Amino acid sequence: MSASQTSIAASISDVPTLLVKIFGKDRPGITAGLFDTLAAFSVDVVDIEQVVTRGRMVLCALVTAPPRGLEGDLRSTVHSWAESVKMQAEIISGRGDNRPRGLGRSLVTVLGHPLTAEATGAVAGRITRTGGNIDRIFRLAKYPVTAVEFAVSGVETEPLRTALVTDAAKLGVDVAVVAAGLHRRAQRLIVMDVDSTLIQDEVIELFAAHAGCEAEVAEVTAAAMRGELDFEQSLHARVALLKGLDASVVDKVRSEVRLTPGARTLIRTLKRLGYQVGVVSGGFTQVTDDLKDRLGLDFAHANTLEIAEGRLTGRVTGEIVDRAGKARLLRRFAAEAGVPLAQTVAIGDGANDLDMLNAAGLGVAFNAKPVVREAAHTAVNFPFLDTVLYLLGVTREEVEAADMHDED
Ligand SMILES: [Mg+2]
Repeated sequence: MSASQTSIAASISDVPTLLVKIFGKDRPGITAGLFDTLAAFSVDVVDIEQVVTRGRMVLCALVTAPPRGLEGDLRSTVHSWAESVKMQAEIISGRGDNRPRGLGRSLVTVLGHPLTAEATGAVAGRITRTGGNIDRIFRLAKYPVTAVEFAVSGVETEPLRTALVTDAAKLGVDVAVVAAGLHRRAQRLIVMDVDSTLIQDEVIELFAAHAGCEAEVAEVTAAAMRGELDFEQSLHARVALLKGLDASVVDKVRSEVRLTPGARTLIRTLKRLGYQVGVVSGGFTQVTDDLKDRLGLDFAHANTLEIAEGRLTGRVTGEIVDRAGKARLLRRFAAEAGVPLAQTVAIGDGANDLDMLNAAGLGVAFNAKPVVREAAHTAVNFPFLDTVLYLLGVTREEVEAADMHDED
């Protein structure tokens, strides 16, 4: 702080101030009307907040008190103006600015479908019991889930996250807790798993259907995802079952892949925000390269099915993308994109995504198995990929406004 800033801060903390609260039915001209009324008393604005919920407005103005002897006049003038516009007014005398916010700032995003009063009360109560204060509450979205954001101060992010994430599962809501601050707006690389995250399918199962070995492959996949089997061994075992399959099946599988609802919205919006978007997959480049082209992704990496003489050989080529490999690729993409690891977001559903989720600045377990959900920073348990945007503080309104603007 410069000397003059210090003296301004000191002088504000000292001076008598008035909190003027106006509430009632919102109509045009209320805000202008209040400040025109206050202008007659030559007061200065210290802080303003205004909220409108279903047509009801609450406007709070913190202003310096008028010169000595004029406070009574100001009070009666504001009250009669409020009456003339059918609003209610409350004026509270005090000193200085708002009480400084406590140390430790976090943003708590709560997703519910529906968001019950019970869950909201439990989250707010838990914040209070951890020593946090709720400074603001703001709705981010009403569709496809109800998403609200609490700005919390007075408690460190980590203990707050631990407390709330444990509650969330019992309450049937998803809760994400991130540190507030500039870095949140600067997150600039997102890396997603593919199978059961970006797409609804497990690609190897689509291949298996063509090879007539669905049941065998599904069994091995499920065990691997539960963390019971080494990923690399299970990959080799499953790919071996595809030996001899005609290579023309690759095109069929590409056309069968179903994107997760909200995937296009998520990617389109992140690209507008200047994010780089990548995928890493324990599946196959034969599908991920196609997704990269179709969706305009910046990075894609996966295993490659070996094809010889027009048939799958039952082997994969190149470096295997497994649990450790996914985290390594996140680091590589971040380095290539010039983005610090703390400013990355990773999304995945399986045990082989855990290292990547934990290495990222924000790791999101997406409709994941309990073992993954419990180990990740945060979990989304709704089958809409665009809900991840709310964890980044993007509102539904902003997403829709950007889409409309592009259609014009
Ligand atoms: Mg997956």
